[in-house]
Amino acid sequence: MGTQEVLRAYRFALDPSSAQLINLARYAGAARWAFNHAMGIKQAAHQQWRAEVCALVESGISEPEARKRVKISIPSKPAIQKAWVAERGDSRHDLDGSCPWWREVNNYCFQSGFIDADTSWRNWLTSFRGDRNGPRVGYPRYRRKGRCRDSFRLHHDAKRPSIRLVGYRRLNLPKFGEVRLHGSGKPLARLIARDGAVIQSVTVSRTGNRWNASVLCKVRQELPQRPTTRQRAGGLVGVDLGSTYLAVLSDRLHQDDPGSTVVEHPRRLNQSMDRLVKAQRALSRTAKGSARRAKAASKFARIHHQIAERRATDLHRFTRRLTSSFSHIAIEGISVRGMIAQGTTAPNRPRRGTKSDSLFNRRLSDASLGEVKRQLSYKAPWYGATLITLAPDEPVHQICSRCGTQNSRVTVLDSKFTCRDCGLDIARQRNAARNIMRAGRRAIGNVTQGTGETINARGGAVRPYSRSGLGRAALNREDTRLQSPGATPRE
Ligand SMILES: [Zn+2]
Repeated sequence: MGTQEVLRAYRFALDPSSAQLINLARYAGAARWAFNHAMGIKQAAHQQWRAEVCALVESGISEPEARKRVKISIPSKPAIQKAWVAERGDSRHDLDGSCPWWREVNNYCFQSGFIDADTSWRNWLTSFRGDRNGPRVGYPRYRRKGRCRDSFRLHHDAKRPSIRLVGYRRLNLPKFGEVRLHGSGKPLARLIARDGAVIQSVTVSRTGNRWNASVLCKVRQELPQRPTTRQRAGGLVGVDLGSTYLAVLSDRLHQDDPGSTVVEHPRRLNQSMDRLVKAQRALSRTAKGSARRAKAASKFARIHHQIAERRATDLHRFTRRLTSSFSHIAIEGISVRGMIAQGTTAPNRPRRGTKSDSLFNRRLSDASLGEVKRQLSYKAPWYGATLITLAPDEPVHQICSRCGTQNSRVTVLDSKFTCRDCGLDIARQRNAARNIMRAGRRAIGNVTQGTGETINARGGAVRPYSRSGLGRAALNREDTRLQSPGATPRE
């Protein structure tokens, strides 16, 4: 057993008193104020920079030269906080300022608000410069009350913990006080008691009508050195993640179920979708600002929340099953940006269900793919499995998995793969899963020949397990099993 320190969030639904509800909203309001305050300073500096560059360009200086000459930096948290402390005022001493009420809430509401503004600005800038994966991040906007997520984050000194569980049923938030938990904090309390976890921070946020606390902990975790017998028997699996099906595997997820090579998106199994559509229609029929609208909005939010929870559970169940059933899991190294483009422009994507199965659902499925990847990367080490991420340019979709001929007409938008050489006619994701499995096997082969310390599937980030973990014998056994007719997946 090896140990590893990981950050892990424990989420609790809160059961606040009515006085505390008001206070929670006040804390979230302070965090929003701090974010907007910092964002205002950043945007003002940015506009001034732009104006001065424009003025220079108009006076006949070239733009690159003007950009070099104007020296205005965008203030970040240290500078913003320092200026804020000087001018915030103080209601206790009747000093007027930008926010004299700051003593009413925990100081970390402001600090984390400033940090979030920094992050938001950096995300836009790196995206603008093209240094960032994923969809394009727009120019940072202000957070509007009622439009943004109500949340705040508190930190503490881990040596003198003020964020702590009181018994099993209460969470103490510094300055705020003790809030009752909806469920039990027993598992976390016990882990903390035997020095297995240290609380780092807490994020309190509202979803629907419920306030949740996400307690971030540094957790000491025992990790298995090698996969279990079952995982080793499962061997290597290739997984193609997509928007038609969440995943198509090169092997069965459940050994006794031949259909378990295909995993549907959890939303499609969700009966609550109809209820959500109904609630949304009811909401759209109400007048803005009316009491009926508030009621309909709260109902919509509640159903939305339920669906999100169920979806999250389904994804967790899938990634857990995958990482605990196979010793190696190979996935494609495609960027999130590519996946989203695929979702929004797909002309021949199969139509399913109702009108609601549109952009909203596609965004959900794209979010699911990123989430599955994230979960696989942290869960694989938990179960002694290895995640192999292929290089993004690995041509898994255009290569015939039977004879290796390239069919460059096939795109990720097609549902079928046909080979003109050997006549293979197969679902595209199934073909891709097989190719991913093969590419994964090549990556493992490179390791067994080498030191056995790292797997590098051409730049893919992977985690090794043990030196002796995968011998030739194991690899050969996988090979025969994966190619035997019994393991041929459903088409
Ligand atoms: Zn072929």
